[in-house]
Amino acid sequence: MPRCLLVSNRLPVAFDSKRNEFTPSAGGLASAIRGLDAVKVGFAFEWLGIVTDDLAPESIAELRALPPGQIPCHPIIVPKRTYDDYYNLYCNNVLWPLFHYERSMVRHNQDGWRAYCEVNALVAEAIASYASEGDVVWVHDFQLLLVPGLVKERRPLLSVGFFLHIPFPSSEIFRELPQRKEILQSLLRCDQIGFHDLSYLNHFRSSVQRILGELPAEEVNWGVYPISIDVDHFTSLARSEETLHFIEKYKANKKQMRWILGVDRLDYIKGLLLKLSAYKAFLKKFPAEHEKVQLVQVVIPSRIDVPEYKGLKAKIEQLVSSINGEFGSPAWTPVQYLYHSVSDPELSALYQLSEVLHVGSRRDGMNLVSLEYVVSQDARDPGVVLLSEFAGAHSTLSYAMSINPWNIHDTATRLLEALHHPEVKRRGEMEAMRDFLRGYTSSDWARMILRELKVPPPESSRIQLLPPNGHFPWMDKLKNKRVLFFCDLDGTLAPITLYPKDVRLQERTVELIQSISKKDKCEFVIVSGRDKEFLEEQFIDNDMDLPLAACHGAYSYSPTEQRWKNLIPNDSTRWKDKVLEILTLYTRRTPESFIEDKGHAITWHYRNSPREFAEFLASKLFFELEESLANQPVQVNRGKKVIEVKSMHANKGYFVQNWLQAKEMRPDVVVAIGDDTTDEDMFAALQGRGDVEPYCIKVGKEKSQAPFFIKDQASVNLFLENFLRSMGP
Ligand code: UDP
Repeated sequence: MPRCLLVSNRLPVAFDSKRNEFTPSAGGLASAIRGLDAVKVGFAFEWLGIVTDDLAPESIAELRALPPGQIPCHPIIVPKRTYDDYYNLYCNNVLWPLFHYERSMVRHNQDGWRAYCEVNALVAEAIASYASEGDVVWVHDFQLLLVPGLVKERRPLLSVGFFLHIPFPSSEIFRELPQRKEILQSLLRCDQIGFHDLSYLNHFRSSVQRILGELPAEEVNWGVYPISIDVDHFTSLARSEETLHFIEKYKANKKQMRWILGVDRLDYIKGLLLKLSAYKAFLKKFPAEHEKVQLVQVVIPSRIDVPEYKGLKAKIEQLVSSINGEFGSPAWTPVQYLYHSVSDPELSALYQLSEVLHVGSRRDGMNLVSLEYVVSQDARDPGVVLLSEFAGAHSTLSYAMSINPWNIHDTATRLLEALHHPEVKRRGEMEAMRDFLRGYTSSDWARMILRELKVPPPESSRIQLLPPNGHFPWMDKLKNKRVLFFCDLDGTLAPITLYPKDVRLQERTVELIQSISKKDKCEFVIVSGRDKEFLEEQFIDNDMDLPLAACHGAYSYSPTEQRWKNLIPNDSTRWKDKVLEILTLYTRRTPESFIEDKGHAITWHYRNSPREFAEFLASKLFFELEESLANQPVQVNRGKKVIEVKSMHANKGYFVQNWLQAKEMRPDVVVAIGDDTTDEDMFAALQGRGDVEPYCIKVGKEKSQAPFFIKDQASVNLFLENFLRSMGP
């Protein structure tokens, strides 16, 4: 069975000091995986996570040898000091606040970044040396953002997925991060990236577009998979004896008091101060509720050694006591504040005894407490969830009552509404949410992701990238064969430049073209989108006497006849006036854009224009052209920073078909190479023929019909060198 290697900052076990051993921890991910049937999912799970080098060797040995039934753990050992810098200075002082929109809390720090890189590299190294071919790697959360890129560098064929458990912020925030490029570039190497909420995915997408210039055309499977909870566990916990014991105990003290519950880790993202302020406003606004309600706020201690968290705790406690001081009486404490963790049965009892759960997060990746509350309710008399619209769970819990936690007065009113929400509505709404969660548990969440994080297919069936030695295996067959070679110019033979007129072939490329086209058995044809004049300058004037096709095959030049032929004799060019009129308008609105008229094609270039604005206008222009030219014999194409309208017949596909038709003797092999959308016509035409053996090669990483790839233009010469050698003397 293939293995799924789970990778996270921590291993899914916690040290139980009472029992002096490691026991499974309760984290959301760990319980999701434990609930899976490995056979049904088709993976055997193993877990890689970090431990620091101050952990006793016996404990490390114990971790490595967990009893059967537990997921095998592989500790990755990291020096304690490096780990502290990575975790405190970068994860918690930079990424956590920035990704939760708390910019004033961000403390940029070079040492932290260095340690982050170091730890991520150690994790990637461990994965690379441990994984076998066919394993899939599933990396978790913001502490390991660089791991996918580093793993792919070492093991490009491993299938790597990544899941972000916190929000991905708006690109306006994300672009402030000094290391934004490194992080995006790493994530884009994943085969799959998952987020809790569609808004996070959209933010990620726009960050990539704005920061890296364009969306990758490579296949990355981006998805939205909100995490869920272990529903069975919480349902049976609600009825357990221990829980019932707590319910009885609390009921006796609570009497007729109606509880509003809050369960939050001590963290600024949880909006505890906003929540308390809203409760205060509620007490001020609705005196009739006094002595009838109580806010039970559990605050789970977290990061108490950090000054910001200490300060937050002091502020919370100040506000709690000011509310209790102002509104309380000997018979009534408006806020019951618990600053400690509660056991599972206690928590379940609190969930069941409260009439409202108040989640007021300023930002929250998901918020599991709200889901746990839903499945713990008594169906006959359930409570209401008051849920911040800034928590990921907001998209999952369709009948929660939404609040904007920043709007304190509205939240106060919603609190009153929640307390008086009619029973019949409560029942119907809670039932709908519970049914949904029953059908979508944390294991369903993991299953959904894993079925898409596929085991990579065997190497033989995959598209082939030019190997580092520049030699595709099929090139062994070229010796003494008649070869016809169709070759694109811009982006293939010559690098793209800011201004198209500046494009020049490198000296070595010229030599290679000359040598290849001199071979008796090889016919080398340039098939370009350029106009005739430009191709003459580049090739004929530079002593490269070879066949040329200009304007995507609308014109062809034969070296023997030394003249151009128009291959589209009856083409009407009436459409050009309309196109020029539209393009002129767009050119005036877009700085540094310009029009190129090539005869049978007109191109609008915007390579040097302000990027986002030009992309926006290009999309509009594309649709406008398609609409207004719907009945014309033209094709509208969107290429690399260009939009082009060309005569339907000016098509590289038609050109290569016609060229082959005119041949008296069929070539044994046809090679076609190109980088842009118009080259796809050529690939499609050749691959559709049964009478020649085509080898179509795409330059670049975008999706293509070609099965062979050369990663960039700079590597084309290496391919040509090998091609020349393979042809024989
Ligand atoms: N929880 C806990 N200790 C407690 C009370 C609750 O560990 O004393 C659990 C709770 O059941 C929930 C998790 O902590 O599963 C909190 O998850 P959530 O997504 O709400 O917030 P996070 O703390 O992950 O930001």
